[in-house]
Amino acid sequence: MRLANGYSGANHRSVKQSNRAAIFRAIHRMGPIARVDLARETGLNPATVSHIVEELIASGLASETGVRSPQRAGRRPISLEINPTAGFAVGLDLARHTITGALVDLSGVVHARVEEEADSPWREETAVPIGSRVVERLLRPLTSSQRDRVVGVGMGIPGPVSIRTGNYLAPRSFDSWRPVALAAELERRWQLPTFVDNNANTSALAALWFGAGQGTQNFVLLNLGVGVGTGLVLDGDVYRGNHDLAGEAGHLSVDLDGPRCACGNNGCLETYVSVPRVLQAVRSGSRRGRKGRAADVTLPEAVTALHAGDPHVVDVFAHVARHLAAGIVTIIYTLDPELILLGRELSAAGDALVVPVREEVRRRIFPAMRDTVRIEVSNLVDAPTIGAATLALREIFQAPLGARVRRGFS
Ligand SMILES: [Zn+2]
Repeated sequence: MRLANGYSGANHRSVKQSNRAAIFRAIHRMGPIARVDLARETGLNPATVSHIVEELIASGLASETGVRSPQRAGRRPISLEINPTAGFAVGLDLARHTITGALVDLSGVVHARVEEEADSPWREETAVPIGSRVVERLLRPLTSSQRDRVVGVGMGIPGPVSIRTGNYLAPRSFDSWRPVALAAELERRWQLPTFVDNNANTSALAALWFGAGQGTQNFVLLNLGVGVGTGLVLDGDVYRGNHDLAGEAGHLSVDLDGPRCACGNNGCLETYVSVPRVLQAVRSGSRRGRKGRAADVTLPEAVTALHAGDPHVVDVFAHVARHLAAGIVTIIYTLDPELILLGRELSAAGDALVVPVREEVRRRIFPAMRDTVRIEVSNLVDAPTIGAATLALREIFQAPLGARVRRGFS
């Protein structure tokens, strides 16, 4: 246990554990990689590297690749890579109308995926049984050997949640349930440690470990869906703040005199940038007197119309882009990130949204930042479920061969 008083030391065992973790993560990130390169990358001496590598191979977490040839010419050193299927975790993404689950391996590859419809608003009587059934459908078909390699379950949920208590940190009218109830049920039923986090944080975690954020120390992921979910990665890890509430960028005011938001602020980013707001504008056609669309127009239909150059829809998305850019400028000036990633439904608009956002942001920030900060669409399909699974998978990366984490919610 690490004490949070600023004076924590490290005993022999924890040094060994952290060296193992460093080597395993280096193999994961850079493999196939030779022992000599591992020593250089980690700064550990070759004997320590060899010893730890042997432990990882013996445990099945890593294996050797490449052959040692007797001839000098064409000789390739034996390299190491992780065994992706040495560990699995279940990731659950609880969205507004669906619960999606995935069985994910150590490389972030989805081996099985299950989706069930859920009612909205959430109620405990439905959220817990549906979530449990999704996990059951993923775990039940596994052989006992596969089942033994499942290390835990991660849940990504919309809205601000405490990762310690598994409860919501702000009242939400559509959520009359406690995520901790599902977490406790899963721990009890499957005897697996279960983790809970906001689904923008899980998406950011997926991008950091397996997506466009790999190798990036500082980036911000904006999930453009029902609201604007924000995942912050600072100094190479998800930043959660004092109350697990860091990164509520959806409530950055982009217009002091804008409409009142449910949070109490005025002109919040998500009152301009959200799927419901876009659909409302596309349907109403009120902007510049353009003709609106049918009341049942869907977002994919709106995006198709955008790409086809429909003037009214182009106008709606230009309005979104301007406000999104204003929010991003504030984020950039606050955090100086290398990368802004856009995810979820509205990012499906692709370049038709991203290019005007980039241009508007470039116009508004310091020249020094202008040419380095990147704004891109998150390229990882299934990021929310993969990221939820990563909440559990990263325990292996933090403590390979370590004791299984204690259960916390049941
Ligand atoms: Zn607000």
